[in-house]
Amino acid sequence: MSVRRALIVGGGIGGLSAAIALRRIGVEVDLVEKNATWSVYGVGIIQPGNALRALDRLGVAEQCVAQGYPILGVRSWTADGGTLLRDNTFPSAVPGLPPNNGITRRRLHDILVSAANDSGANIRTGVTVSTLEQEPDAVHIGFSDGRHRSYDLVVGADGLYSRLRERVFGDQHKAKFTGQVAWRVNLPRIPELDRLWMYRGSRGTAGFVPLAPDLMYMLTIEKVPDGAPLRLPQDGLAAEYRNRLAEYGGPVAEHRELVRDDAEVVYRPVDNILLPAPWHRGRVLLIGDAAHGTSPHCGQGGAQAIEDGVVLAEEIAKQAPVEQVLASFMQRRFARCKTVVEGSERIGRWEQDHTLDIDPDAAAFEVTTAALAPL
Ligand SMILES: Cc1cc2nc3c(=O)[nH]c(=O)nc-3n(C[C@H](O)[C@H](O)[C@H](O)COP(=O)(O)OP(=O)(O)OC[C@H]3O[C@@H](n4cnc5c(N)ncnc54)[C@H](O)[C@@H]3O)c2cc1C
Repeated sequence: MSVRRALIVGGGIGGLSAAIALRRIGVEVDLVEKNATWSVYGVGIIQPGNALRALDRLGVAEQCVAQGYPILGVRSWTADGGTLLRDNTFPSAVPGLPPNNGITRRRLHDILVSAANDSGANIRTGVTVSTLEQEPDAVHIGFSDGRHRSYDLVVGADGLYSRLRERVFGDQHKAKFTGQVAWRVNLPRIPELDRLWMYRGSRGTAGFVPLAPDLMYMLTIEKVPDGAPLRLPQDGLAAEYRNRLAEYGGPVAEHRELVRDDAEVVYRPVDNILLPAPWHRGRVLLIGDAAHGTSPHCGQGGAQAIEDGVVLAEEIAKQAPVEQVLASFMQRRFARCKTVVEGSERIGRWEQDHTLDIDPDAAAFEVTTAALAPL
């Protein structure tokens, strides 16, 4: 194989998935993660059918399902909860597994870390790349812990604000603010919640996602109200979140009263990026959010990051030269990720301005159809 030794920069969903996938075909893998404690958010994530399909190829889909909660479809209502707008059941992408799965970020992280360790990947935390020098046949890396090593391929999976992207592609490609912010908090699961429940408000969407038999999260994606600051201190987040939910009725109104602990509320502005193709320079390739970070409207960001690792390993296993591996990777990944990023962004634009000529359901259908197409 033209790639016998690879470095993966970043131990998030994309980096860990790539590490597992590359180890499965026998590539020697070093992975560096800059966060010494390797902490992840305390909330959850939706794993759509294509995420489960890709995780199945990594051998961990069943663990995710066992530690998560099946999501059978989506129901959406008007903000007051009075009018049902949509009631869809999702198809299963993998026989024997649920259509979608909800899981806490921590459980997913533990499953991926354990599989990456078992695979024999050499993982160092609290370490990043200090120097990078490319030659036609190798990339020479100096690490922040003083070590040096050369690689056939470097995979940048260091997220939306990727330093590797800046280092290799220059600083003209930056994640941009979409105009919306996301609120999330874990709560006890509503007993009947076996699918996504979404409520369409005037500035965004609020809803519930099951994560475990006893757990769900409530999420809201919204345009910042006029005059409100974008950055908010952690102190006071619970009260502010309750305020932002004032227009919602039904179960959202009931559950907003349970949001009392500032420390439990996860708030962040929503940024996105679609790096123009190709996502490689020489022997450095960007994957996951570093190349195609999407707003969360279709729950596809993590799914696409996992698919990147699976596809990269499949292309390396074909024994082609590195340039051919990277070209084939782009051929298989760019259009799909573009549809996800742009379709999700369209939904977000409509949520911010309902007068725009955008059909959010059609955009969601387009994204889901692209995501479920054969990998
Ligand atoms: C509000 C919200 C809701 C979401 N919901 C969903 C969902 O339901 N389903 C879904 O599939 N996706 C969802 N996503 C998207 C998903 O979280 C991301 O797409 C996914 O985490 C991307 O994985 P990644 O590995 O590319 O990047 P990240 O998860 O950001 O991981 C990057 C890793 O690299 C490390 N790192 C950063 N810089 C360096 C460096 N210089 N050196 C070494 N390491 C570095 C970081 O510490 C981190 O561990 C959501 C996103 C948001 C914002």
